[in-house]
Amino acid sequence: MSDTDDFKRYICKVCGYIYDEAKGDPDSGLAPGTRFEDIPDDWYCPDCNVTKADFTALEPRAAETDTTAVASAWSGPDGGNDPDAVVIIGGGMAGWALAESLRERDPRRTIRLITADSGDYYSKPRLSNAIQREVVPADLVEETGPARAARLGIELMPFLRVLDVQRERKRVITARGGIPYGQLVLATGARPRQMAFAGGAEAPLVVNHLDDYRRLRAALEARDTAPDQTRVAIIGAGLVGCELADDLSAGGYPVALVECAPGPLSGLLPPVLADDLRTALDARGVQWHTGATVERIEAGAQDSLRLSLAGGETIAAEVVISALGLVPNRELAERIGLACNDGIEVDAFLGTTDPAIHALGDGCEFDGRLRPYVETLRGQAAALARTLSGEPTAYQPDAGIVQVKTASLPLNVCPPQQNDAGAGEWVEIVGDSAGRQLEFHAGGRLAGFALSGVHARGVRELERRLGEPVSARDEHRTRLAS
Ligand SMILES: Cc1cc2nc3c(=O)[nH]c(=O)nc-3n(C[C@H](O)[C@H](O)[C@H](O)COP(=O)(O)OP(=O)(O)OC[C@H]3O[C@@H](n4cnc5c(N)ncnc54)[C@H](O)[C@@H]3O)c2cc1C
Repeated sequence: MSDTDDFKRYICKVCGYIYDEAKGDPDSGLAPGTRFEDIPDDWYCPDCNVTKADFTALEPRAAETDTTAVASAWSGPDGGNDPDAVVIIGGGMAGWALAESLRERDPRRTIRLITADSGDYYSKPRLSNAIQREVVPADLVEETGPARAARLGIELMPFLRVLDVQRERKRVITARGGIPYGQLVLATGARPRQMAFAGGAEAPLVVNHLDDYRRLRAALEARDTAPDQTRVAIIGAGLVGCELADDLSAGGYPVALVECAPGPLSGLLPPVLADDLRTALDARGVQWHTGATVERIEAGAQDSLRLSLAGGETIAAEVVISALGLVPNRELAERIGLACNDGIEVDAFLGTTDPAIHALGDGCEFDGRLRPYVETLRGQAAALARTLSGEPTAYQPDAGIVQVKTASLPLNVCPPQQNDAGAGEWVEIVGDSAGRQLEFHAGGRLAGFALSGVHARGVRELERRLGEPVSARDEHRTRLAS
């Protein structure tokens, strides 16, 4: 075996970025072939700013897995009759994380993953910072669905939508027939919120799946001109809208950002950081239209589109992207009578109101909250794998830290919990040309924080301090308007 055969890959538990020793990370000075253990401790995840300590090895475990035993149990929808099978619906990061964790714990359990898409594995957070790096869609695929299924010894049923579930017979119903389950897991994720606009233009593009990224790249490249000749209008300055504006403007595209709130990421960022982000994107050339709503999108001059805003202003663009947030895919769960609120409601063990059905990821609502983040789904997958292999384990929610991967101003925000939000205030601990460290103090304790620029790298230290008393010195720092 040559040296290069044993290069390993490590995944950032926070955002899903994969460090591949064979490829290195030339952008941050790590040459191809740099071993993970040789990376300096002050290296940070290029996508979300956490440290090496937040990475975990991604190693094939095929050697531990008796794949033939598992595969032989399966011979098509009506042939695989293992009544103890775990059937996972959804081949996004949550479904795959569960399949992987479950296989690690139980080498022989029959695991079936049914997914409406190809099942190819990719890190979804990378979709919003891949344009500037000129990443072609195929390069985002970390592992094809069939290769991942073979490595894990599971049965993948791609391009297959689950239409219904017969709970009393423990069967899922697909266009290709019924599939029995012992335990069913809904990892059905979320889809972009869509608004219908008057004017007759095609619906704006969205970015929530690898196929969406393919369409976006095709639209950006359709005119075969330099990026500065292709104007992009983004509707919505939330997480995805801001990240795309940052990425596309860094890639040379003129970007207009339309947002109905007074500033970006309203509801998440303390106003001073929202202003900083606005300034950082301004410096990239992003044109802001805040406090504005799009009313019509129609054909404009020379293959462009014209967006008309309430109030009369118009924006011309060749590409229009809608980034209006996500809606959990809960329709299947609702149809089969499971309790749903915004998402599929789950208890401490990620169980739904049917003891044989669990849920995780973007589609589920835990403790009254949607938590559409990678760290959450990985924690849920680890806990649920234990539960499904006979060791009931409650999911311990993470702190809910939100990474905003805007390279012009990286941010890590831990918003205060609802019961603290009205009882405290934002305090500026550090504010300098390198960024800010803001803390939310409630009842003399650290209840949240918001970090920007280089200070965003201190996220784990602040996370460790959550709930601890704040020092008397820090209590007297500059208080900020919330
Ligand atoms: C652009 C972007 C950037 C992001 N950046 C970050 C970030 O920096 N950090 C972070 O923590 N999070 C980030 N996120 C969020 C993170 O990517 C998601 O939390 C995560 O990918 C959700 O995974 P999931 O498997 O729950 O859902 P999904 O990815 O939505 O997967 C759901 C799967 O279910 C399948 N499915 C649904 N219904 C059916 C059915 N009836 N039958 C069969 N299959 C079905 C779908 O085909 C799909 O495969 C980002 C998201 C986006 C869009």
